[in-house]
Amino acid sequence: MSNSNRVINIISNRNYESRNTKIKLIDILEEEGFVPTEEYNPNAELNICIGGDGAFLRSIHKHKFPNIPFIGINTGHLGFFQEISPTNMKDFVDRYANKEYTVEEIHLVEANVCTKKKCFTLTGINEIVIKGIKSKVVHLTMYINSNHLQKFCGDGIIISTPVGSTAYNFSSGGSIIYPTLQSLQVTPLSPISSKAYRSLPTSIVIPGELPIQIKPEFRYENSILIVNDGMEFRYDDIEEIVLKISDKKVYKINLSKNVYWENLKSKFL
Ligand code: NAP
Repeated sequence: MSNSNRVINIISNRNYESRNTKIKLIDILEEEGFVPTEEYNPNAELNICIGGDGAFLRSIHKHKFPNIPFIGINTGHLGFFQEISPTNMKDFVDRYANKEYTVEEIHLVEANVCTKKKCFTLTGINEIVIKGIKSKVVHLTMYINSNHLQKFCGDGIIISTPVGSTAYNFSSGGSIIYPTLQSLQVTPLSPISSKAYRSLPTSIVIPGELPIQIKPEFRYENSILIVNDGMEFRYDDIEEIVLKISDKKVYKINLSKNVYWENLKSKFL
């Protein structure tokens, strides 16, 4: 099959190695007859993201969670999302042209934030964190599927997706969750457990469709900071935040069927 109408978006961060990698990748793709473009084309068949995990997350947000699948080339620090290195791009392009890959669905977390005036929706790839502004302790009431669970006091709560479980969640003592498990993980950040307050000290993993409802205590409704994949959001007069697995998904190309375990071992052990 001719590759001449097969447009591929190249999304790169600006560091020196990424820029060099991008030039080499464009040459390889053109030699194979693909049409690489740096100007984002919404009708392309593939998004190739050059950088680290941060660049991967930013490109998904910037392009509003497109249906076009992503694959990453790692020029960043950790590169947990990336399978390809700048030295094996030719092999990747050959295997892609021969359809030697599978497509993985990435589950996302969605937060519906309601203030006294309006509701807003946020979608996260790794996690949505509910914290206090100015390093304040947060005071939150938490319900799972309408069941009151706890009055949480501490630095905050991470609501992590399976793919985000190896990020902030993992550094905060949460478990690593296999990406196909449609679940969310609620991980406390420095929970206070004393005679004054009692918060769960460990993570809870719950089915993704069960809503997690979080209400700031009324005196603290203006002290909440929401951090979505590292980006901060502040809203006045928050009444409640309801989180669940999003109906939206993004897609990632995997060349090796063992990529998850290979990445986990090589990047964390
Ligand atoms: P960042 O510098 O872009 O990322 C911090 C580190 O997390 C980087 O080493 C990054 O890899 C790695 N990372 C990102 N997603 C990952 C994933 N799914 N699995 C494993 N590692 C992953 O930081 P940022 O801009 O503030 O926020 C981006 C992400 O950083 C957030 O979504 C959050 O998960 C994470 N974060 C972690 C901590 C912590 O561990 N204490 C604190 C704040 C935020 P690269 O080096 O390849 O970019």
